Amino acid sequence: MKLFVDQDLCIGCGLCIDIAPEVFDWSDDEMTAVAIDEEVPSEFEEEATEAMESCPTDAIQEAE
Ligand code: SF4
Repeated sequence: MKLFVDQDLCIGCGLCIDIAPEVFDWSDDEMTAVAIDEEVPSEFEEEATEAMESCPTDAIQEAE
C-alpha cells in the first residue's frame, strides 16, 4: 500500500496523525500532514486505511 497526502486538499486537522501516528506526521511548516514513507508498512495498513477513510477532505490518496 502506497499513500500520499494531497497538499492542496489537506486542511491540517491532524486527524490522520491522531489515528495513524506511525504513518502520518506534520509537514515542516506544520500546516499540513504528510505520509512519513510513501510505502506503508503492512502492520500499519489497517490504521492507514482508517485514517484515509476519516480524512474530511479526502486528501489521503493511494499512489499508483
Ligand atoms: Fe490533512 Fe486529511 Fe490528515 Fe486532516 S485527516 S490532517 S485534512 S490529510
